[in-house]
Amino acid sequence: NVGGGGNGEDCCVKVAVHIRPLIGDEKLQGCKDCVTVVPNKPQVQIGSHCFTFDHVYGNNASPSSSMFEECAAPLVDGLFQGYNATVLAYGQTGSGKTYTMGTGYRDGCQTGITPQVMNALFNKIETLKHEVEFQLHVSFIEILKEEVRDLLDLASVNKSETANGHAGKVTIPGKPPIQIRETSNGVITLAGSTEVAVSSLKEMAACLEQGSFSRATGSTNMNNQSSRSHAIFTITLEQMRKLGPVRPGESSPVDDMSEEYLCAKLHLVDLAGSERAKRTGSDGLRFKEGVHINKGLLALGNVISALGDEKKRKEGAHVPYRDSKLTRLLQDSLGGNSRTVMIACISPADINAEETLNTLKYANRAR
Ligand code: ADP
Ligand code: MG
Repeated sequence: NVGGGGNGEDCCVKVAVHIRPLIGDEKLQGCKDCVTVVPNKPQVQIGSHCFTFDHVYGNNASPSSSMFEECAAPLVDGLFQGYNATVLAYGQTGSGKTYTMGTGYRDGCQTGITPQVMNALFNKIETLKHEVEFQLHVSFIEILKEEVRDLLDLASVNKSETANGHAGKVTIPGKPPIQIRETSNGVITLAGSTEVAVSSLKEMAACLEQGSFSRATGSTNMNNQSSRSHAIFTITLEQMRKLGPVRPGESSPVDDMSEEYLCAKLHLVDLAGSERAKRTGSDGLRFKEGVHINKGLLALGNVISALGDEKKRKEGAHVPYRDSKLTRLLQDSLGGNSRTVMIACISPADINAEETLNTLKYANRAR
């Protein structure tokens, strides 16, 4: 709520818009730019509609290079204080979600939120490693048709591909499906998913790359697959304070035992394409996939809008996390003490105006 006062600092959901430039195909078709940014304000205009967000990037607004600093760096700092966090990229297929998140990571490419998060994380660890012992784990999963698929389990990816020609359904004999569970203290876990222990930037980058590769190749039709699924790269940071030798007459650096261990996680989410499910000829199957994806995005919209409503939040209103796998998985990292940033990705092209307006309306509900 920039300039709105009230829920600036304590609002748990921030919303940014990332406007990509017109791309080759749109230029070739002679598309016009139909999105205007109000100078020096985080405001976007399309047709007669005007929306205000926390930040706007691209299209003569702030350079997208400041996006990491403003949107993600505070979340990385929060991780070290034990706060869970989530960054979500929302938008129609082709609007720049994967580009923004950097989850199409290839060969050390540094653009995008995720590679920059990883850099910042390891830089910070380097400065603290003498006082604190760190343990890092990553997981990378995909939710398609309300099923969780492990992008870091090579066996599952390959096997499901040969088993039924496409990797939509993971049915491996002897291997139970991944389940989302909640522990008695409200921590959400993914039972059965691969959690890779990493100790260097290089190892973490390899996981990101491997998962991106699995996502892109795990289907007979790669565009369909990746536009219909939510991809979630999760970094879990555990910290154990090293207690130095305590000299006589000095107190121990940490008195409270509970502060010696901290665990927090950051979810980096490349959401499914937000475009309306279209009935594609006689292909009823594909339509069903669309319906399921909308279920996740719909539930997410409801959860985020419930969280953003300060009045309702204080009254302890019901937040419908259980309505989809996506919101269930993110439950302990959306709302509460956790920090959430949604980046709405849009194309400036006039042919996409209708979907762009839908995206801005969805993002506007989150504030
Ligand atoms: P999505 O993941 O939403 O389907 P992509 O991230 O794949 O969209 O982006 C679609 C195309 O637009 C890609 O070719 C990508 O390189 C390009 N693109 C997206 N965002 C930007 C940007 N900010 N600057 C330049 N090119 C971009
Ligand atoms: Mg994508």
